[in-house]
Amino acid sequence: MNSVSRMPTLFVGHGTPMNAILDNQWTRAFKDLASEVPRPKAILSISGHFYTPGIYVTDNEAPPTIHDFGGFPQALFDVQYPCPGSPDLAQRVSEMLQGHAQLTDKWGLDHGTWSVLLNMYPAADIPVVQMSIDARVDPQIHVAIGKALAPLRDDGVLILGTGNITHNMRVGFWQQEEGVVPDWSSTFDALVADATKDHDAAELARLAQSEAGEAAHSGFDHYFPLLYVAGAANDDDPVSYPITGFDRAFSMRAVKFG
Ligand code: ZN
Repeated sequence: MNSVSRMPTLFVGHGTPMNAILDNQWTRAFKDLASEVPRPKAILSISGHFYTPGIYVTDNEAPPTIHDFGGFPQALFDVQYPCPGSPDLAQRVSEMLQGHAQLTDKWGLDHGTWSVLLNMYPAADIPVVQMSIDARVDPQIHVAIGKALAPLRDDGVLILGTGNITHNMRVGFWQQEEGVVPDWSSTFDALVADATKDHDAAELARLAQSEAGEAAHSGFDHYFPLLYVAGAANDDDPVSYPITGFDRAFSMRAVKFG
């Protein structure tokens, strides 16, 4: 594929931070994702772990690798993902959002971003900018922001959402029986699969305010990245699911538009 083609938009379920250093079915699937999209000129990552009052866009030349978790082995804290940033892309995103976003160098790459990119692009040679999710706004606003950023796709920018389609941390850890997927997780995952197949971003936003959504999430920080990815999609983009399945209680579904 050449670099002038319109980039797809991609949502990835990142799962445990350990996926940065493990070799398992998920990390092998993350590695395969790199061959499913044209090589991006830059990546705009929207991670469930950068969830803030207001919209922030990282403009560091060299974004630090943030180890935003506790209780994991030292090997995970030793991981670095030394990719460049892109102040130019950050500036452009800020302009496209017409004063609603602020540039910041107080963040870098959180593990939602680097645990996936370390597998997809281990050379860390593609510039990455992170944009935060405004925790204060209604779900449909996330769709609208994704739509506003869609033109980036024509310039070789991969709009990447990283979270999990089901992520109820209140009950998920108590239902971690291998091979048993709880109903609240499989039900919501199926609803999301249907809505994405239909390019129905409004329905995806509505699902965040539904009973099924409340059951599948202990907060919607890991779901909202999908709304940006869907918002930046066109109705005629083919929809595919490069990764499906569950890591114990949580959906690991990836969604690609384009
Ligand atoms: Zn996470």
